[in-house]
Amino acid sequence: MAASSSTVAPGALPRITILATGGTIAGKANANSAVGYTAGQATAQDLIDAVPGLDKIATLQAVQISNIGSQDMNDQVWLDLAHKIDEIFAGDQADGVVVTHGTDTIEETAFFLDHVVASDKPVVLVGSMRPSTALSADGPANLRSAVQVAADSQARGRGTMVVLNDTIHGAKDVTKSNTTSVQTFTSPNSGPIGHVDAAAVQFAGPATTQPRLTFPVPGKAPLPHVDIVYSHAGMDATQVDDALGHGALGIVLAGVGDGNTAKPVVDALSAAAKRGVLVVRSSRVGSGSVVRNAELNDDELGTVSALGLNPAKSRILLQLLLSDGITDVAKVQQAFGDS
Ligand code: GLU
Repeated sequence: MAASSSTVAPGALPRITILATGGTIAGKANANSAVGYTAGQATAQDLIDAVPGLDKIATLQAVQISNIGSQDMNDQVWLDLAHKIDEIFAGDQADGVVVTHGTDTIEETAFFLDHVVASDKPVVLVGSMRPSTALSADGPANLRSAVQVAADSQARGRGTMVVLNDTIHGAKDVTKSNTTSVQTFTSPNSGPIGHVDAAAVQFAGPATTQPRLTFPVPGKAPLPHVDIVYSHAGMDATQVDDALGHGALGIVLAGVGDGNTAKPVVDALSAAAKRGVLVVRSSRVGSGSVVRNAELNDDELGTVSALGLNPAKSRILLQLLLSDGITDVAKVQQAFGDS
């Protein structure tokens, strides 16, 4: 983790740059529908203007990176974000960054940024579950909380965080757990890392002193081809064959239970691993850790255990490893332990 030299001058407000990417937080209702809305309509400045007093917490800058629903989040926007954040921190243009984002894939973007932004200054992702035009829109309060967290000196050294509904989550564990509720984000293995209210930001413990696992920002989009294979009862190897037929360099198994799957799929995955495709066993369960060499023998199969990473985040870690030229199975397993 690279140390950053600047500190906020006494009496000065922290400088926070808001990078807007779209999502429901920037969504507006459709005129002729009670429930319909379109994500990614309001601009970064609209979002700031909707939060009275935000300029009393921090000196703000806003940059529009994209304006899309996060179901359409993609490698190019990730690279644009990573380069912009690097530029902001390297040039000491801000003390923290807030990224506004749709909630569907916010955990993936958070995980990606956590693994490519080396600065110890905070990056805070924020979204909302209700569009900006809804009754009780949650976006303005969430944005205020996110700016509070990014502006707080205790946020340094914690990597990338996700803030919604008064709760601060770490990038590794955070996940969306309810389709529509404002209380949707959980950190099932470790719990939230803190809470925020109108008056204060409270972290559950000190920032870790362990260095964070980070990679160089990949040179170009798309990132290396890694597919997720979702396991279910009555499964055959079709999904694995399909992934390999389309040139996958890595496959993540969203396995049943402790990262398991049907025998024909295990055989196909092991054959692929022995031909040099990186195969990671994760789980569709949503919490817990996939235990190496327990129900399945990874040493014999040539596979990697995702440990506590869910399938979507396992895919991103594998892409970063591949784009950094790391393909040795033992080193890949080590990275999953360190992530
Ligand atoms: N699908 C949209 C998105 O992720 C709406 C979900 C949201 O932002 O809450 O951008």
